[in-house]
Amino acid sequence: MSCLFCRIAAGEIPAKMVYQDEKLLVIEDINPATPLHLLLIPRKHIIGILDLLPEDDHLIGHIFRVAAAIARERGVAESGFRIVANTNADAGQSVFHVHFHLLAGRSMAWPPG
Ligand code: 5GP
Ligand code: ZN
Repeated sequence: MSCLFCRIAAGEIPAKMVYQDEKLLVIEDINPATPLHLLLIPRKHIIGILDLLPEDDHLIGHIFRVAAAIARERGVAESGFRIVANTNADAGQSVFHVHFHLLAGRSMAWPPG
């Protein structure tokens, strides 16, 4: 298995686990861009947003609801947070197993650089 996030999901590569269930895992990003920087990663190997199927609709809704729950738990729901799914080269996608960044803990610029 060569996919980094599949290997983390299988426990072959260690990660700071924040939450996991049968559908997804949430880990701390190894190179945080904000004080809170989590990655929400489905266990299913999906390359990116462009590869989502109708059968994944429930999974994606579940991921966003877990993200909202974590934002509340971590005390950033009111102050604000950002959920990002980088897709392909212009957006800087570097791991080709779909994932959502949960970014929070400081004021963020818009538009992104
Ligand atoms: P992308 O660039 O594809 O949007 O996001 C990939 C993210 O994975 C990056 O923010 C990067 O810091 C993070 N990352 C890369 N390798 C590892 C790793 O081995 N462990 C963890 N926890 N995060 C990683
Ligand atoms: Zn994978």
